[in-house]
Amino acid sequence: MNPEPTPRTCPAPGSRSPARRVPGRRGESSPGLQFDEPLIFERSRPGRRAASLPSCDVPEVSPGSVIPSHLLRDEIPGFPEVSEPEVVRHFTRLSQWNFGIDVGFYPLGSCTMKYNPRVNEEAARLPGFAQAHPYLPDELCQGALQLLYEIEQYLCEISGMARVILQPAAGAHGELTGMMLIRACLEDRGERRRKVLIPDSAHGTNPASSALCGFDVVQIASNRQGCLDPEAVARAMTPEVAALMLTNPNTLGIFEENILEIAEIIHRQGGLLYCDGANMNALVGISRPADMGFDVIQFNLHKTFSTPHGGGGPGAGPVGIGQALTPYMPVPTIEREGGFFRRNYDVPKTIGKLHAFYGNFGVLVRAYAYIRTLGPEGLKRATEVAVLNANYLMQELKGTYDLPYDRLCKHECVFSDKNQARHDVHALEIAKRLIDYGFHPPTMYFPLIVKGALMIEPTETESKETLDRFIEAMKAIAREAEESPELVRQAPHTTRVSKPDETQAARHPVLRWKPGTRNPGAP
Ligand SMILES: *Cc1c(COP(=O)(O)O)cnc(C)c1O
Repeated sequence: MNPEPTPRTCPAPGSRSPARRVPGRRGESSPGLQFDEPLIFERSRPGRRAASLPSCDVPEVSPGSVIPSHLLRDEIPGFPEVSEPEVVRHFTRLSQWNFGIDVGFYPLGSCTMKYNPRVNEEAARLPGFAQAHPYLPDELCQGALQLLYEIEQYLCEISGMARVILQPAAGAHGELTGMMLIRACLEDRGERRRKVLIPDSAHGTNPASSALCGFDVVQIASNRQGCLDPEAVARAMTPEVAALMLTNPNTLGIFEENILEIAEIIHRQGGLLYCDGANMNALVGISRPADMGFDVIQFNLHKTFSTPHGGGGPGAGPVGIGQALTPYMPVPTIEREGGFFRRNYDVPKTIGKLHAFYGNFGVLVRAYAYIRTLGPEGLKRATEVAVLNANYLMQELKGTYDLPYDRLCKHECVFSDKNQARHDVHALEIAKRLIDYGFHPPTMYFPLIVKGALMIEPTETESKETLDRFIEAMKAIAREAEESPELVRQAPHTTRVSKPDETQAARHPVLRWKPGTRNPGAP
């Protein structure tokens, strides 16, 4: 597995990276990762060019003779004048600041940042897939249709559901699709149920998706074990309730052990049970949401099935449904007739279309490749190792960090900053300090029911050595919090910008450089 860069030795409190301390060296070559790249405008030297071409051997045409003069300008104020290698190095260095799973350990809880095998990319780039036109007639894209048909079959088998809708572009989009199906089904039954029950540990997209579908959200408190009490569900369940949205394992990484009883309570009163399947990485090959009583589930292929994510790129959030919801499926569905695969638009009660064509096809190809590469045994093994890794981390860190729900976890565990907060060091600062040790910060302040939450998900793709290095770093930071809290509070020390005003940066990003000014992010 890919090792992290050896953690840099940490500078004394308040000091900056070496590049910052040597005036005049900014942007010049320095050993290791270049974290102090100036703006390209600051590299500009008058008259410097990226290309030097021989003089023209055909008659030159002046721009003024072909372009109207009011569209012409003599110069672009502040346009950087740089050489070609300067351009290449500048943008290559910036690209190297982009932390990704290919660079190092990325323990972002709930997000399942697992390694994305390259074979998935190979498959998605096969010309027959990458260049297929979405309007090709069925006869001319049998391979692509077969792939869509088969990945639906695999996801049905994995979840136990009757059908799977491939269109949604992400988990949240899948939730919306699922809630629209529930609404359509209830309306079809002539029932006007307006409420959706959601536990207080849920991801924010759950209430958002429900509200977008016109439902009123009723929050249910989790119990002291971090789970939903059947009694609490029974108290909240009325004939007004359309559905309960539940994440299993929940966002504390704990399996909802009363799920069968909860399903029974919801179904007895005519409600439906929605599974937020973002945490399927803890279930695949071991247990099936349909067997737990769920009627709908969204998959996050970009989490569980190893397609790349982050940075707002395309994902896929297919939705598995039980038989009762199949009459409302979005069109087209993909059907098989003998050896022929075809798109079917004839679904009389369809909720319509959720995405152009068939969803993010390239993402579906990647997930298909992943499922085929691992096979049933491999998928199961991945789940087991993900759970093992999370429990190993939890055991090793629980003496050092407060563990509010101290019980066997599934694929992730949630600590709090309680022990460190005594020294006025908080989750955000611990997370930022991890950057100096070469790790991406974990998820912070989520789930909301844990004050100062640090939510860690190692995934199955990390080696024991990587986990041990991370554990060491977390323990070192806990020691620092006691002995030199200021060092942690001011972290990160190794990055170009240490602690930007995140609100300002998000609301008022400075996207234009004015000649003569410094990069506002620079120290
Ligand atoms: C990631 C996540 C979602 C939303 O999925 P997106 O693909 O980011 O839209 C919903 N619920 C949980 C628990 C998640 O972790």
